[in-house]
Amino acid sequence: MTTIEAPKGAARRNTVGRAAALVLAAALLAPQVARAQDKGTLNPQPLPPLAKPDDPATPAKELFGRKGAPANLQTRTIGFYSKGCLAGGVALPINGATWQVMRLSRNRNWGHPNLVQFLERLAAQAPKTGWHGLLVGDMSQPRGGPMLTGHASHQVGLDADIWLTPMPNRELTREEREEISATMIVAEDRLDVDPQVWTPAHLAVIRAAAKDPQVARIFVNAAIKKALCRDAGTDRGWLGKVQPWWGHDFHFHVRLVCPSDNAECTPQPPRPADDGCGQELAYWFTDAVLHPRPSPAAKPKPGPKMADLPAACRQVLLAP
Ligand SMILES: [Zn+2]
Repeated sequence: MTTIEAPKGAARRNTVGRAAALVLAAALLAPQVARAQDKGTLNPQPLPPLAKPDDPATPAKELFGRKGAPANLQTRTIGFYSKGCLAGGVALPINGATWQVMRLSRNRNWGHPNLVQFLERLAAQAPKTGWHGLLVGDMSQPRGGPMLTGHASHQVGLDADIWLTPMPNRELTREEREEISATMIVAEDRLDVDPQVWTPAHLAVIRAAAKDPQVARIFVNAAIKKALCRDAGTDRGWLGKVQPWWGHDFHFHVRLVCPSDNAECTPQPPRPADDGCGQELAYWFTDAVLHPRPSPAAKPKPGPKMADLPAACRQVLLAP
């Protein structure tokens, strides 16, 4: 369940004020949650076949969630980051000199080649920033599209979650990749980062990502943006790409620009030109955001159906 993920991380620290932190964290975890804390399994069971896959009422996530391999079509991203799919996806290799892919059982290390190249580029740069290497979380499914668990976005092969935990100095076992939890960065009062955890290397790796010209946007928890604003010094142009968002206590989420040759990809609206460290950031620490009025639990949404996605996603789904 979405509301218990961050508390797990918070609880592990076992410090005073835990109960209050749990309430706050649960209240704060709106749609985008810190999925890094969901554990995987060494023995993923194939999903049972759908009784009526052609029924127009079938949620698209049930269809895309059952595709284990990419669509053998010319590579292109189709639609918007939170409503689309991916043709000709490629996989990020699960190990590189300075990266390792986590939660292999999810089979979400797929993306547009631009995303794979970006991650390899950032991983190569990471050690120079003091960050030992990348632990890569969810990218996209082999054909993109909506997912059965987590993430409203990550649908077109241009989004990736990178853990805010540096890669250890050894190759993780399969089991560790399913079981290990990322490090909780946000302090228990939700007002700032945890000073015991936050380091200059955290800023440096996020900055290196933000400075990449392929990167359109980076989503982090507001407390992390606050720390970046405070610690960035005079080199601040990149901060404008970093947008506070719910969840994202354990990882940062990188979103690339639409590929230049890809007319079917809907771009992200631009952000304000400033560094976002003023009014915009302050909003996230207002009482209404920090302490939202409890609302009745929303019913789980079935998500988009095929008819809600761009028409070309049907070919992606049906392609060999
Ligand atoms: Zn994400």
